[in-house]
Amino acid sequence: MMPKSLFDNTEIAFRLKSDSELERAYFLFKMISVEPFVRIGTAATKFALNLHLPVEGLIRSTVFDHFCGGVNEKDCMPVVDNLLNAGVFSVLDYSVEGKKEDAQFIKTAEKVNELTTFAKDKSAMPFSVFKPTGLGHIRIWKKVTNRETLSESEKKEWHDITERYEKVCKTASDCNISLLIDAEEYCMQEAADDLCERMMEKYNSEKAIVFNTLQCYRWDRLDYLKEQHAKAKEKGYKLGFKIVRGAYLEKENERAEEQNYPSPICESKAATDANFDAVMRYIFDNLDDISLFLGTHNEASSYLAMQIMEEKGISKDNSHMWFGQLYGMSDHLTFNIASEGYNVAKYIPFGPVKDVMPYLIRRAEENTSVAGQTNRELTLITKERKRRRL
Ligand SMILES: Cc1cc2nc3c(=O)[nH]c(=O)nc-3n(C[C@H](O)[C@H](O)[C@H](O)COP(=O)(O)OP(=O)(O)OC[C@H]3O[C@@H](n4cnc5c(N)ncnc54)[C@H](O)[C@@H]3O)c2cc1C
Repeated sequence: MMPKSLFDNTEIAFRLKSDSELERAYFLFKMISVEPFVRIGTAATKFALNLHLPVEGLIRSTVFDHFCGGVNEKDCMPVVDNLLNAGVFSVLDYSVEGKKEDAQFIKTAEKVNELTTFAKDKSAMPFSVFKPTGLGHIRIWKKVTNRETLSESEKKEWHDITERYEKVCKTASDCNISLLIDAEEYCMQEAADDLCERMMEKYNSEKAIVFNTLQCYRWDRLDYLKEQHAKAKEKGYKLGFKIVRGAYLEKENERAEEQNYPSPICESKAATDANFDAVMRYIFDNLDDISLFLGTHNEASSYLAMQIMEEKGISKDNSHMWFGQLYGMSDHLTFNIASEGYNVAKYIPFGPVKDVMPYLIRRAEENTSVAGQTNRELTLITKERKRRRL
């Protein structure tokens, strides 16, 4: 069995980082390890951007360039090529979030379609990705989830959303590129799940083209997965799932308390971890029917996945199983896992600096609230700086 120290090799982990990039990463993680700094920095950045103050340069040279591939897909191409040289695949993620206008939703759908078509001829990019709220206003997703009556204009909005959603799935199917659909907030997720189920039935008859996401901090996800599996078996199509722990923890718990409904979130981190591993095991037990994209920076879960694969005799490059991490985080997992011959992909967010801010703020907050991860990044970077005698 692979030693657990597999992930400790910092020479492999940071092989794509120049000395100056490594120094920038060190400086950045030092900053975001200080919780008040992130809180104040986030507020000040939002304020400055709203007033159109010239802070984009500062954001770019710090947090943006570390976590994003660039402002457009062209900027990302050198990153994609470098990753492929290290055996790592790319998922280009047009990370414009929180938009309210139709024109933006149309633009995002077009961008996803363009990227999928582009990926068709680029072996470095086996997946496309999008967020449901990138294609339509969250207000409508929520109303449909809550089964509220829609006004005539809202019916038209929902119709347009589903049309865009269906189009990106059809493009993926035509291009034979798998499409990862991110999971978002609980209050709108059911409408997204229902639509995704329909798309899987339509496009996954032979293999998993359309992938939904299971947020395992939700205690109901294993039952949901089993239910989806039963339906897919009955109707004869394949399932694809990205599994993650979930990125909206504080918001979900606060909203449940405010609105007085039982929290959809597991009662503790340990319960989320157990749920994540149970969902993962269920998929490994049914890997012929369900493809897995394991979106995590958790070392124990990544190691467990490798262990299960070995026990079950699943080949490292089995096309039904992918590891995935976010650009700028957990390179020690990405590059060490890739160097062992497993399928690994990095999400590479890109987009105009201002529009990518919600994504960047989530990453900064996650790295402060998930105490272990920032310290782990800092320890690894420090080890590599020493090795390079910086
Ligand atoms: C490739 C990739 C794709 C992603 N896509 C999505 C997506 O579509 N949707 C989405 O929501 N997130 C997504 N994420 C983010 C993900 O959900 C996590 O926020 C992030 O990866 C941290 O979790 P972890 O598994 O890496 O590990 P860890 O650091 O071990 O776990 C941290 C997570 O545990 C959970 N947790 C922490 N404390 C508690 C507590 N007290 N009670 C219950 N649970 C707790 C939270 O989910 C927290 O984010 C993605 C991540 C990756 C790597």
